[in-house]
Parts: sequence; C-alpha cells; structure tokens
Amino acid sequence: MGKVQSILIIGGGLAGSCAALQLAKRGLQTEVAHQNSIAVQTASMVPLALYNPAAALRAKKGWRAEECHKALHGMIDELTEFLGHDSFVSKTGVLRPSLDEEMALHFKKSAETEGWPEGWVSWLEPGELKERFPESEHRWGGLWVQAGMTFDTPALIKGLHQMLTEKYACRISERKVVNLDESKTGVEVRFEDGSAITAESVLLAAGASSKEIIKPVAFNLHPVKGQTIEIKRFLPETFSPSVSSRGYVSLHSHRVVVGSTYEHHFKDLNPTAQSAEFLLKKVPKSFPGVRLQQLSITKSWAGIRLTTPDRLPLLGLIPGKKRIYFSSGFGSKGIMFAPYCGICIADHICNVNDLFPETDLHRQVYH
Ligand SMILES: Cc1cc2nc3c(=O)[nH]c(=O)nc-3n(C[C@H](O)[C@H](O)[C@H](O)COP(=O)(O)OP(=O)(O)OC[C@H]3O[C@@H](n4cnc5c(N)ncnc54)[C@H](O)[C@@H]3O)c2cc1C
Repeated sequence: MGKVQSILIIGGGLAGSCAALQLAKRGLQTEVAHQNSIAVQTASMVPLALYNPAAALRAKKGWRAEECHKALHGMIDELTEFLGHDSFVSKTGVLRPSLDEEMALHFKKSAETEGWPEGWVSWLEPGELKERFPESEHRWGGLWVQAGMTFDTPALIKGLHQMLTEKYACRISERKVVNLDESKTGVEVRFEDGSAITAESVLLAAGASSKEIIKPVAFNLHPVKGQTIEIKRFLPETFSPSVSSRGYVSLHSHRVVVGSTYEHHFKDLNPTAQSAEFLLKKVPKSFPGVRLQQLSITKSWAGIRLTTPDRLPLLGLIPGKKRIYFSSGFGSKGIMFAPYCGICIADHICNVNDLFPETDLHRQVYH
C-alpha cells in the first residue's frame, strides 16, 4: 500500500482521540466513529484521572517517561490555546503519603535512584510532610510528585473532539461499528444502523469492544473492572493535590473522586454498593483526621481497563491485515501513554518510524 491518505478511527476515547490528532497533524484526512455517550465500556469517561509518573508501590519511572510527559504537555498546551482555558486539568501535583515502613522504603528509594528529571519527584520527611500537608497521613513521610496532574477526563475528551473537528476538519460521529472486512482496495466498515462505508485504512481503538468488531482479536488483553465514587469535598480549600497511596483521592476544582477497585472477575459493569463501601474506607487511611460518618457519596462509576501481561500498550497492524491498525492496552495509564502512543502509531502508519518492540502488538499475539 502506498502512502495512506485517509483513515477511519474507531473509538473516540484517549487512544483514538490522541491518535486522530497526530494523524491529522501528519496531513491525513481523519474521521472518528465512537459511541461515548451510550457505551458503558468507555474507560476514558472515568470522572477524574491522575497523571502520576511515579505510580504503584515501587513508584518507578515507567516506559519512556520523559517522552510520554513531553507528548502529554504538548497536547495540553495545544488544547489550552485552542479552548482559551485549561479547566480540564489541575496541575496541582500528586501526593503519595507512605502508609507503612515498606512503602516509605520504596518511595524514598524511588526519589533517590530513579533519575527523575528536575522538579518531578521529591521525598518528604514526616515533619516536612506534616507542615506542608497537615491533613495527610504523615507518620512515615511521603513522595511529592510535583509533576502529577488530575484530569476531568470527559472534559478533556470533549475538548479534544472539539479541536479535532474545528481545527483539523476531522469528522466525528456517534455510530456503533459492528464489523470490519478488509479487501484489496479498502476496509468495508459496517455500522449498527445497517449502513456501510469503505475506508482506505482503519485504526481500531475501541477499547474493550474491539474484540467484538474484529473477530478474533487474539491478543493477551485482560479486562479489569474498576469502580470509582464521587464524594462531597471534605478537605479545606488550602489542600490542592490529589493523593495516591493504596487507592487514590483525586481532587479537581470542587470535586473529589475516590478510586479505584481492580476486579478481575465480574458479572457486569454496574457499580456495586460493596465496592463503594470498600472505596470509602480508603479515605481515612490517607487522611487520619477524617471519620467515615463525615463522608457522603454522590455518584458511582465503573469501567473496564485493558491490561497486558507486561503492562505496556499494544500498537500496530493487526496480524494478517494490511489496512487495519490497532491501539489499546493502556491499563491504568491512559493519560500517560495515549498522547505519546498517538505519535508512535501515527508515525508508523505514515511510514516515518518503526514501532518500539516493547509496544509492538506482535509480542502479545496468541500462537
Ligand atoms: C476505574 C478506572 C480508573 C482509571 N483511572 C485512571 C487514572 O487515574 N489515570 C489514567 O491515566 N488512566 C486511568 N484509567 C485508565 C484509562 O481510563 C484507560 O487507560 C483509557 O481510557 C483507555 O482508553 P481507550 O481509548 O483505549 O479505551 P476507551 O476509553 O474504552 O475508548 C474506547 C472507544 O471506543 C468506542 N467504541 C467502543 N465500541 C465501539 C463500537 N462498536 N463502535 C464505535 N465506537 C466504539 C467508545 O465509544 C470509546 O470512544 C482508569 C480506568 C478505569 C476503568
């Protein structure tokens, strides 16, 4: 196939929207089909999402952290300029109070040995943590991730779609794709309403629904249900960062979202009262002065993250196809990975660069 000129992106979540932006920047005519307002399975509708480059118990610097950071900031800057505001993000850091000796050891080690760029991450001794963030658990010290941010994810996606439409002439529609059929001349795309189009090429970024659209998608992709709860603000206005220790309490504007569960076996995607209670009980662990009776839940939300065994995304041409590309497997790090992976997959589709072997989907194909 010669140089690709047009592409249909199936999925308007973080993966699809970030890839669409980069493909449009490279001169491709882009179109996005999604079903965000009706699909319960759109992970990118998670109410608030953290960008925490020092995540998990060991707080290690992840895959190509600097490139991911730069790509994310590039996208934020462009969107902020386009919208004229940045109300979709709080650049207020992420605080990681240690909850025991073991966490403290890991966090301190991360600050000292991970080679963080200047101004990203620092260790706070108990006294300093107490002085700066008095409401937080402070007995074992904590990690201050200054580079951390909190996103109103639906607002981010809405802004990206508006920019794609108005600045890049990308056509975006809410339509459910039910089947893809590749021929020598193009990809026949069938929609739920019975209509069909022929696309020159396709990027499948439909998250957990991808396997229903192209059968079989034989990748090692594991669905993990996650629930969040939104609660009334219980912290003083002076406390601004999101907090992530075991579970997280994310703050943006006046909103507080507590997350999240990791459910490997689940019957359906409905939020449950049991998970809500489990999440609520996490709050006093990070904020010992808070009593459960003070907290009230206003909303619950649940979605699916798709994870891979090595916790890295899956990008590339679907095996056996010449015109159907795939982008998925962002796990709990959609905000961190999607902007940079959008660049990687767009470069690959435009024959500018090969994919990194660590994210090439061939590594996770069933044999
Ligand atoms: C509870 C929870 C908490 C999370 N917290 C964080 C966090 O704090 N930080 C972070 O970085 N990440 C977080 N994540 C992960 C993040 O949400 C995902 O990694 C990311 O949103 C995945 O994006 P995606 O575009 O691959 O998939 P999705 O967001 O699922 O997007 C799939 C897209 O495909 C569309 N679609 C599906 N089927 C069809 C179809 N048949 N036809 C057309 N379109 C279709 C959908 O409408 C949607 O637009 C969290 C996830 C969950 C579930």
